[in-house]
Amino acid sequence: MKFRFLGTGTSVGVPQIGCSCRTCTSSDFRDRRRRCGAYVSTENGAFLIDTPPELREACIAYRVSKVDAVVLTHAHMDHVAAFDDVRRFNTINGGVPLTCYCSAETEDQMHRIFPYISAKGGENGLFRPQILFDNSEVFEIAGVRVERLKVEHGFPCCGYRIGDLGYISDCHEIPDETIAMLRGVDVMVLNCLREREHPTHLSFARARAYLDRIAPKKAYLIHMCHDFTHAEWLEKLAGTNVEPAYDGLEIDCHAICNSINESRKQHE
Ligand SMILES: [Zn+2]
Ligand SMILES: [Zn+2]
Ligand SMILES: [Zn+2]
Repeated sequence: MKFRFLGTGTSVGVPQIGCSCRTCTSSDFRDRRRRCGAYVSTENGAFLIDTPPELREACIAYRVSKVDAVVLTHAHMDHVAAFDDVRRFNTINGGVPLTCYCSAETEDQMHRIFPYISAKGGENGLFRPQILFDNSEVFEIAGVRVERLKVEHGFPCCGYRIGDLGYISDCHEIPDETIAMLRGVDVMVLNCLREREHPTHLSFARARAYLDRIAPKKAYLIHMCHDFTHAEWLEKLAGTNVEPAYDGLEIDCHAICNSINESRKQHE
């Protein structure tokens, strides 16, 4: 299973509009953070996690042309505002509706944010996304078992366990039952907004504490604001199994697992 980070930035993106801080003006391509989303693919199919505002740009940049389903974490604009762009995948798939997996609460909000999506009748053609919502908590896409997880983000929000990868883009609290469902995953992708505390996102200290409890083989931080550059994050995390993710980074989950097992064997 391959996992591509389409975006790794917080809700306003990095660079922020009108900011001239060192991160926002950095020439390191890893300091350009689109809003968070991901692309998961196997030889049996592929799906998107969220449809962030820069979805189209990211799909073009990383040549994403095959999408069988969409999985949504929650209906905040930084995660769903390019939902309309999935029309292209309807066309590519010959007009077949895409299944959109999300909680009933998120589906309800999607109908209110994009009322034309569920409108009956009207014009023909793919002027609106063809979507079948599915509120299942456990499902399979591309041959991968996906499980929805409960997290707190100022309201009940969702993360996912996708095979042996955990994905939580937005939360400030992870309930014990969710930790138990993630414990020992190969890869954990977790939000970490900044060093300072925030009422609805994880600070660095809180993210580290949760990662200690989840104990993944490897972890990547996402949903980062402009407080630190990629290089500064790397320095803070030196000597740990945690890295800041960056837009476009693609990880091969099996390869990561094998290389970690290999280096463990060498140290034994
Ligand atoms: Zn967000
Ligand atoms: Zn800035
Ligand atoms: Zn959010």
